[in-house]
Amino acid sequence: MSQTAMSETYDFLFKFLVIGNAGTGKSCLLHQFIEKKFKDDSNHTIGVEFGSKIINVGGKYVKLQIWDTAGQERFRSVTRSYYRGAAGALLVYDITSRETYNALTNWLTDARMLASQSIVILLCGNKKDLDTDREVTFLEASRFAQENELMFLETSALTGENVEEAFVQCARKILNRIESGELDPERMGSGIQYGDAALRQLRSPRRTQAVSVQECGC
Ligand code: GDP
Ligand code: MG
Repeated sequence: MSQTAMSETYDFLFKFLVIGNAGTGKSCLLHQFIEKKFKDDSNHTIGVEFGSKIINVGGKYVKLQIWDTAGQERFRSVTRSYYRGAAGALLVYDITSRETYNALTNWLTDARMLASQSIVILLCGNKKDLDTDREVTFLEASRFAQENELMFLETSALTGENVEEAFVQCARKILNRIESGELDPERMGSGIQYGDAALRQLRSPRRTQAVSVQECGC
């Protein structure tokens, strides 16, 4: 199989969002996750708005299609269409800025109102490397996460610490919900699609019933 064909083989595609106040490091987190390096200020004009990457979650290949607010958050005008049909989100604050932490409730209200009801959200306390300037303790944020049913990690887009983990943990939770039947990928606006690999499984001889349903396109 060619490299391109291999890299496009996945079981599921999840639509992901990165939300939170401007300056918390959302674009840097996306860049670190995709490129495995820190995006320094000199190339901020490139303005990553979108990225995708295939990750392996417990043996399943999941393609994450990640949308960055691309500056919309500066005007508090993150639109309904941005939220539509997202399966997961990273909600980001900056551990050195209480202001960005205080804004979390507003972001959560928007996400729960405008995104899919079943959206899985991971709270991300970014800039973990700046511990000496910390304004929000780990304990306080983890309590907030618990009260609001969010997963929680402190990350550093600078060192890369916990960046991959944040995306993977969020994807794992979505996958668990699909496998337990709690989440139906075929429901409109679920933010989930089947990939080629999953379709191939459906077409395997063991699942002939699924094949006949699939092929009846008349
Ligand atoms: P956005 O507005 O949320 O997309 O934030 P950016 O990704 O543009 O980052 C805002 C600023 O924070 C930039 O100056 C980054 O260099 C810096 N930054 C982002 N993540 C980190 C981090 O983990 N540690 C440190 N020390 N700085 C960061
Ligand atoms: Mg940005």
